[in-house]
Amino acid sequence: MKKQTQAIHQPYKRRDAYDALSMPIYNAVAFEFDNAKVMADAFCGRIDAPDYSRVENPTVTNLEQRVKALTGAENVIALNSGMAAISNTLLSIVEQGKNVITSRHLFGNTYSLLTSTLSRLGVEARLCDLTDVEAVERLIDDNTCCLFLEIMTNPQLEVVDVRALTSIAHQHGIPVIADTTLIPFTQFSAKDLGIDLEVVSSTKYISGGATSLGGLVIDYGTFLSIGKRLLNEMLFNLGAYMTPQVAYMQTLGLETLDVRYRAQAGNALELAQRLRTLKPIHKVNYVGLEDNPYHQLAVSQYGETAGAMVTIDLESQEACFRILDNLKLIHRATNLFDNRTLAIHPASTIFGLFTAEERAAMDVQDTTIRLSIGLESVDDLFDDIKQALEV
Ligand SMILES: *Cc1c(COP(=O)(O)O)cnc(C)c1O
Repeated sequence: MKKQTQAIHQPYKRRDAYDALSMPIYNAVAFEFDNAKVMADAFCGRIDAPDYSRVENPTVTNLEQRVKALTGAENVIALNSGMAAISNTLLSIVEQGKNVITSRHLFGNTYSLLTSTLSRLGVEARLCDLTDVEAVERLIDDNTCCLFLEIMTNPQLEVVDVRALTSIAHQHGIPVIADTTLIPFTQFSAKDLGIDLEVVSSTKYISGGATSLGGLVIDYGTFLSIGKRLLNEMLFNLGAYMTPQVAYMQTLGLETLDVRYRAQAGNALELAQRLRTLKPIHKVNYVGLEDNPYHQLAVSQYGETAGAMVTIDLESQEACFRILDNLKLIHRATNLFDNRTLAIHPASTIFGLFTAEERAAMDVQDTTIRLSIGLESVDDLFDDIKQALEV
């Protein structure tokens, strides 16, 4: 089955008691057992049955099963945000005195998780240029516990050579965790690129229309001890499992993901091409543009589409603010891959509490506006940006 078919037709783990066609919301905390023996077996994992919704719920399991089928993963865990997926995964790997090799080009909260939260627990974040594979290898030592990367960074739109990095990490016995939020897993196989654990903010493409926060840990089963710890320790002890209401909405989102994503990525490419014709825009950054320095690498790793995030550079921060204020259709809001097009000035918002030096080290520029392209007509989006530049 093709992925768009599979996303819709994946059967339920157990037949619904009423044969409901869409998975109902099991809005229940606890599940009853016929006898003490079955109860003991369920609690100890000898039989597969839900007992308590902090760690298992049929509606959430249904979402997890669908993602598992779509990705070919060994196991999938749905959590209540992208940050929960990232923090639970890292906490199942790190130990005091160990180090994580990663980039300066990271989602703001992931950067802070590594350099503040985990650093206080005695874990060192080794920030480096992940496009320099030899430099990465030089940083690996006996205390390196993982390599963490983003498949396309936000907002720099940098693409690293994932195959080269996973191959080096594996030569040293180190797992690779990748945040794949920017390109959906229906478009490419993280497993084929050698990624061991995929983390996704399902708040973005998957929720569909920005209905709910969610996160996924997609475990390819290559480091068994980590998968076990995620399931038996993190899920139970940190309590960040997805709720059934969210799983219901995100399962609906997953069913339309492929068609929405293709339309949004198509819009992003066309808009990026047209924005280049506008004089006040100094630079349009989109990996889908053929002359983008990462274009070929991205195509070889993620396929023909390049996501729906486009950035534009203007002459100054003042110019960025002026254009944001002049937009009539495009919304001034954070979030990515909503059905609506959104615009934000990352340096003063998402990265606003970092120092100017930190922002410079992360290559977050004062002159950049980030656009998340939605499902509107490209003509309307182009006209809105054009009028905002001309006012
Ligand atoms: C949004 C985002 C996150 C965090 O996800 P939440 O669901 O907001 O917690 C992590 N990584 C990337 C790349 C993101 O865009």
